[in-house]
Parts: sequence; C-alpha cells; structure tokens
Amino acid sequence: MNILVIGGGISGFITAIMCAKNKNNKITIYEKNNEVLKKLLLTGNGRCNYWNEYQDISKYHSSNQCELEKIITKENLDCAYKFWSDLGIIPIVKNGYYYPFSESAKSVKSLLLNSAQINGVIVKTNINITDISLINNGFKVTYSNNTNYFDKIIIATGSCAYPKTGSTGWGYEFARKYGHYIIPVNPSLVQLVTNAGIEKIWHGVRTHVIVKHLQNEKVLKSEYGEIQLTNYGVSGICVFNLSRDIRIGLENHQKEQILINFVPWFKGGKEELKQLLDKRNSDSLNITELCDGFLHYKIVAAILTKIKVNSKARWNELSNKEKNLFCDILLAFKMDIVATKDFDNAQVCSGGISLSDINSLTMESKIVKNLYFVGEILDVDGDCGGYNLSFACISALLAAKSLGD
Ligand SMILES: Cc1cc2nc3c(=O)[nH]c(=O)nc-3n(C[C@H](O)[C@H](O)[C@H](O)COP(=O)(O)OP(=O)(O)OC[C@H]3O[C@@H](n4cnc5c(N)ncnc54)[C@H](O)[C@@H]3O)c2cc1C
Repeated sequence: MNILVIGGGISGFITAIMCAKNKNNKITIYEKNNEVLKKLLLTGNGRCNYWNEYQDISKYHSSNQCELEKIITKENLDCAYKFWSDLGIIPIVKNGYYYPFSESAKSVKSLLLNSAQINGVIVKTNINITDISLINNGFKVTYSNNTNYFDKIIIATGSCAYPKTGSTGWGYEFARKYGHYIIPVNPSLVQLVTNAGIEKIWHGVRTHVIVKHLQNEKVLKSEYGEIQLTNYGVSGICVFNLSRDIRIGLENHQKEQILINFVPWFKGGKEELKQLLDKRNSDSLNITELCDGFLHYKIVAAILTKIKVNSKARWNELSNKEKNLFCDILLAFKMDIVATKDFDNAQVCSGGISLSDINSLTMESKIVKNLYFVGEILDVDGDCGGYNLSFACISALLAAKSLGD
C-alpha cells in the first residue's frame, strides 16, 4: 500500500511510524513547514508533558461523548503508554504530569525522527498540500504544481491553534468539501481577559492560588496551581483548565467571573485571617511589609488600589471595614471575564471533525473510504496535563493498527 500522511506533527509521526512496521506499506509524510514536529517542541514549556498519571474520560472533551468513550478506553490508553515507553522515554513525574527524564521536547523529537528513519518512513518537508481529489479507489494529491497518487491518506494537519507552528486549519476545509461535518472550532486552553483596572499593577507576578470559575454567581469548577497575572488578564495551567467552559459561557451571554484565593495555604475564614494579620502586626510595618513572606508586593498594591487605601498605610490605620475588605479580597478576588484570547495564543482548539463521521475503532472516515483523520483536527480536546498528546497518540495508534493489518 502506498500511504500518505499529511502533516508532520506528533499524530502524523506516530501514525507513520506504526504503519511502516508493516513492510507491505510504503509510508510518506508531507509537511508544509521546513521542519517537522514544530509544535511538539513547544509542549510543556519545551519539556514535553506527554502523559498524565490520572487518565480519565472526564479530562477529554467532545460534542459526541458516546464516540469519545469508545476511543478513550483503558485498552487504548495502555497502548498509548506502551508506545511512549517503547519509543525509549523514561518518565519523570511531577504532580502526575509525565515528562521525559531529559525534560527536553527536543529529545522526544529526536526519538521520533530516529524511529521514523529506522522504520523506513519517507519524510518530505516544504510540501504544502493544496488539493486532494478522489480517483477510483485512491487519491490524487496536488502541491506546488505537482501531483502524486496514493492508495490511502491520513490527514494529521492539526487544528488552528498556534498557527505559527503550521496548523492553520487547512484540513477542516478539505474535510468539509467531502461532506464531513465540522463542529465549530474555538480556541481552548487559553488566557482570560479581565477588566478589573489593576492589571498593570500586578503584571508579571506568578503565584500559587485556588481559582474558581463562577457562572452567574454559581461556582462551577475549582483549580489549584500557578497563576500568571498579566497586563491583560490571567494565564497559567489552572486558568487554561477553566477557559473552555468560560468561553462557551461568554458565547451564550452568561456572566463569567473568576474568584482568586491568594492565600491557598490558609485554612480559616475572614475572621481568622484578620486575627493572623493582627498578630503579625507591628506599628512600624506598612501593609506590604506585613504581608512579606506570603504575598507579592504587587498583589498587595493591586488590592489596596482596589479598596482605595494608600499603599503606605499601616494595618492599624485601616478601618474595620477596610480590614474586612482586604481579607475578603485576599480570600476571593472576584474578576469579570470579558473575553478569552484568540487562536494565536491557544494551546488547542475545541471542535473539529465530528466523531459521528469517523469510525472510532479505526479513525477512518465513514464518508470517504481509505481516508483517515488523526490528532487535534478531530472534535476532541483535553485538559492541560498531557491529555492532548495522549489523544494524538491514541488516535494515531488506532489508525495505524487498521492500516497495518
Ligand atoms: C504552546 C503549546 C504547548 C502545549 N503543551 C502541551 C503539553 O505539554 N501536553 C499536551 O498534551 N499537549 C500540549 N499542547 C497541545 C499539543 O501540542 C497538540 O494537541 C498536538 O501537537 C496536536 O498534534 P497534531 O499532530 O494533531 O497537530 P500538529 O502538531 O499541529 O501538527 C500538524 C502539522 O500539519 C502540518 N500541516 C498543516 N496543514 C498542512 C498542509 N496543507 N500540508 C502539509 N502539512 C500541513 C503543520 O505544519 C503541522 O506540522 C500544546 C500546544 C501548544 C501550542
């Protein structure tokens, strides 16, 4: 079989490597960039968070839960984990997040390139596919005034998240042309834009918080982790994991807010916090100094601006009402969310090719025979924590198993 994989990202590479293990297959990857696996290098801040200890269907999202459950099975997860191990990755695990012990995405790229070479995969870069037409039982592929013919095609062109890595959504147009339904595509795992008026004051601070998603004043989800406070709003894994639901809420004109607890280590309520600050107090300390040791000075400055208290004020100079306000805000800083950032900043997209049009055992199109879709182009997105690379791997292995038989 002469098989073409379009897209030299992670899902394309895994499909190609595993398909090529059947020596009756001739496998070629066409990648439009001048280098392959560009997005992989960015994952996990360059360290490649490829897996998570806590694998559960609730970490994956799709409009078609029923089909998703057929894909995210224990058996498929076991195969995916085995793939990474067989590739040669020794993990280091941090809070359940798996990274290669090298903590280098570059080393994962190198493992994939070597495995592709050993298995005889032909990798061609600078080939931007512009059209595919169906001919008899095969495909005619067009790129830069050239044409080529293949028996089977795997579309692994990704979503439109982070388009500078090459994933610009081309595959959606192609799939739509041949009758596949595309669930609307939106940025996910993305920063939130706020308008609290204090963003410039705390810009650049990173701190551990509990952040809650509040929709119409009701708490829907809570996350613990490092938040990045920026001049436009908030970022960080804990924020990314709330962004999917918040974006959908905004689209449906819901009131979307977050509550940030800046003292997640403190187990008491407002009164106890006030007592703690009273105990730490001394006449010579201003409020910033009083909070030294547990709160960044820029966060104190932002809170004092919000409650309209002079930044040099001492704790004893605050009225009881102001002390209450200060403690309330430390425990639950409420911010309106006005927007999420766009595709340029998103780690993944929600939406994509509907799973209803895909055979969930093989990733083959139910509409066009011998055409397969793998990876993020499908209507599946995961939380932060290695779930998106896990899905890329699972879908690739399913397609490869079917193509290898
Ligand atoms: C900054 C960042 C950090 C991330 N960190 C993590 C993480 O730590 N863990 C995790 O699980 N996930 C992470 N993700 C998500 C994860 O990287 C993606 O879900 C995954 O890479 C998707 O793989 P893919 O193969 O489907 O698509 P891609 O990796 O996007 O590959 C698609 C490829 O197809 C090529 N292509 C597109 N159109 C054409 C065409 N017409 N012709 C030829 N080639 C084409 C593109 O150039 C690209 O190389 C991160 C994403 C980003 C942006």
